[in-house]
Amino acid sequence: MIDIATRCWWLAEALQHPEFRGEPAPALGADADVDVVVVGGGYTGLWAAWHLRELEPGIDVAVLERDECGFGPSGRNGGFINGFYDHAGTLVDLFGRDGALAVIEAGARTIDELDTWMTAHGVDAWFRREGYIGVASAPRQAGGWTEPLGVARELGIEGRHRLLDKPALAAYVRSPVFEGGHFVDDGGTVQPARLARGLRRIAMEHGVRVHEHTPVNRLIPTRGAGGGVEAVTPRGIVRAKHAVLAINAWAAGTRRFGSRIVPRGSYIAITAPAPDRLAEIGWTSAVSLYDYRSALRYVRTTPDGRIAMGVGGERGTLSGRIDARFDFDERGTQHAVEALHRLFPSFRDVPIDARWGGPIDVTSSHQPFAGSFADDRIHYALGYTGNGVGPSHLMGKILANRILGRETVDTHLPLVGHEPRRFPPQPFRGLGAAIVNAATVRRDDALDERGRVDPITDRLARMPRRMGYHLGP
Ligand SMILES: Cc1cc2nc3c(=O)[nH]c(=O)nc-3n(C[C@H](O)[C@H](O)[C@H](O)COP(=O)(O)OP(=O)(O)OC[C@H]3O[C@@H](n4cnc5c(N)ncnc54)[C@H](O)[C@@H]3O)c2cc1C
Repeated sequence: MIDIATRCWWLAEALQHPEFRGEPAPALGADADVDVVVVGGGYTGLWAAWHLRELEPGIDVAVLERDECGFGPSGRNGGFINGFYDHAGTLVDLFGRDGALAVIEAGARTIDELDTWMTAHGVDAWFRREGYIGVASAPRQAGGWTEPLGVARELGIEGRHRLLDKPALAAYVRSPVFEGGHFVDDGGTVQPARLARGLRRIAMEHGVRVHEHTPVNRLIPTRGAGGGVEAVTPRGIVRAKHAVLAINAWAAGTRRFGSRIVPRGSYIAITAPAPDRLAEIGWTSAVSLYDYRSALRYVRTTPDGRIAMGVGGERGTLSGRIDARFDFDERGTQHAVEALHRLFPSFRDVPIDARWGGPIDVTSSHQPFAGSFADDRIHYALGYTGNGVGPSHLMGKILANRILGRETVDTHLPLVGHEPRRFPPQPFRGLGAAIVNAATVRRDDALDERGRVDPITDRLARMPRRMGYHLGP
């Protein structure tokens, strides 16, 4: 059994501090009646709960979390807080120009609101808002900026982006493999576990009831007049008027969402502090980086001079079940270490302090989606596809407003009510995803190392696009 609270460096760091450890949140021990029951204590569930109490202070909200709040991806991610700038092309395809702009503006607003919220509530999650850079980390990745910059120009938001040739990129950070990139001036990084645990504490202080170690085995709309829902847990049933389903990649195991979400592993390795080495490569700002591989890699620093390197598109699951290999996988985390050393060879002798992973909820549209079912009694926000730190705040607020029957500019966003195209049925889904995913990583590696790829691998990797999904090369 993997103890994620010690394995994941972010969680281990946060839990040393009383304000992030917080008060205990005992497991549910008996039946309860509340107004809203939230299933899942990551960012989405906690933001929905917090916004509900903020908008309607008397409302009774209970969060039920199978593990501890923030022990899922919310406490383990790369900590990039981005809006939707990099997804502009996909958003235009899905929602047209106006819809895309509305989502991009909402994403930007949510970064401002997160910033304000952390300051107002004294949550020191190491938020550093210095933008991020898409980098070409191999010759074949050069030009990866063409599409995002072109779409940004069409949408009139090119002011947020700046093209960086090799010398301009070297002014931010030097690597022997960088070929140039593009800078986006809005976005930053956080210590993700501090944000998740800080949010847990503030939500509890605002009167949200939290029950950890409380898995919800069934969520059932109640029969009869008045409706409502029942969340069935091993030691009690919570009855509520509304439920929020905020279970991220675990939704792949449900009947309602199993065909819309495929879980994928992402793994991170973090070094020991090495501020002198960072200074040697000129990486003294808090700007964060990702590359243009289809199975993307992301890399950032911490205020105490570490590098955290993440790799996406790693292991999957044929069945859709999330198992322990998503928490830690030797090969996946080793890929993160190798990627780090390829980008920054001077870090080869800097110790790796920790390695861990987590599941990503991949959708065919690459975008989160929110909505309601069971006569508007169960509300969900899922499908962040690895971009949920900022957007989960937006989605939590949307869910809270929908439950309260309030319309806002955000509740009209096209992400609401949008259902991503289904993946093929099982067993083709699990098997197909595994084959295509492996081909995508093989294609990225071949292009990085040799500048060319064999036609079969290329065709397999491109299959999702050919099927109309917004995934892959
Ligand atoms: C390694 C990694 C790196 C990432 N990097 C970034 C990044 O840099 N930037 C970014 O924006 N996004 C990133 N992401 C994605 C981001 O972490 C997620 O999109 C975000 O945390 C989603 O929040 P959530 O609350 O919806 O889901 P989660 O944090 O997964 O919370 C869902 C919770 O539901 C609980 N749960 C599941 N089933 C049940 C049940 N039946 N009963 C009760 N509880 C249940 C789980 O235990 C979990 O705690 C990354 C993800 C991973 C794994």
